[in-house]
Amino acid sequence: MRPRLSDYQHLVSGKVRDIYAIDEHTLLMVASDRISAFDFALEPAIPDKGRVLTATSQFFFDAINFPNHLAGPVDDERIPEEVLGRAFVVKKLQMLPFECVARGYLTGSGLKEYQANGTVCGIELPSGLVESSRLPEPIFTPATKAEQGEHDENVTYERVVKDLGADRAAQLCNATLTIYAQAAQIAEERGIILADTKFEFGLDSDGTLVLADEVLTPDSSRYWPADSYVEGEVQPSFDKQYVRNWLTSPESGWDKASETTPPALPDEIVSATRLRYIEAYERLSGKQFIDWVG
Ligand code: ATP
Ligand code: MG
Repeated sequence: MRPRLSDYQHLVSGKVRDIYAIDEHTLLMVASDRISAFDFALEPAIPDKGRVLTATSQFFFDAINFPNHLAGPVDDERIPEEVLGRAFVVKKLQMLPFECVARGYLTGSGLKEYQANGTVCGIELPSGLVESSRLPEPIFTPATKAEQGEHDENVTYERVVKDLGADRAAQLCNATLTIYAQAAQIAEERGIILADTKFEFGLDSDGTLVLADEVLTPDSSRYWPADSYVEGEVQPSFDKQYVRNWLTSPESGWDKASETTPPALPDEIVSATRLRYIEAYERLSGKQFIDWVG
């Protein structure tokens, strides 16, 4: 008999995930169907999104050659039936307080900083780059994790050195770029550009650096179809960008600058977004979502 979710102590809920304690050293990380964009939780939820995110993370944890926080299989008997397929049993780590972002292309907050200063996280880039330009080489662009409701803040590499020391900072940078390169290669073979992605790392009880959180999901990454890539334009995307595009279109009636709560997503945006998450998983992994557990 599987335990019930209520058998575990609920620790915290983020915008998308709910975390429970299994025991002193082990957590249950449950991905909900909630969706966020521009750091707002949106309504309604996207059916199956939690299972797709979990399937996508599992695929990449298996594919990436780096120690990760998984402490059991996705059908582990400690996972309650009601969250089966959208939960991981993970080692509880001492998390490092930076979001470790790798960027191979220039867009989003990176593009904004570049347009203002010619840099991203203090890294000088060549002149003449535009929206979606491929960078000469992938760069490590750390951010500090924002408190609930605040935006993550890009920081310089020197800031990571100051907080964590030069050795740990170098280790994080190398790990981030190495894992990005592995994932970008996998994506490229599937006709997908991994423009950028965010990792979180923690330390286990013997001080080993471990890849944690979710990895390489459309929520933590920008994936672009390679065949429609055009430098100089905002790329169409099969993940959350679709929701972002709707929110910033006149149709939604929402003014992003107002910082007010965005309107509810219409049914057709919800179902199209669900299909895009599934398509992203199936294209990246070469697997069928219908075969996923739960
Ligand atoms: P956001 O909605 O902006 O992502 P959040 O990061 O606070 O907010 P979630 O991503 O839902 O919320 O929650 C995941 C939390 O669990 C993060 O704080 C993450 O750093 C933490 N975490 C991930 N893996 C581990 C782990 N193995 N041990 C301990 N904490 C972890
Ligand atoms: Mg998070």
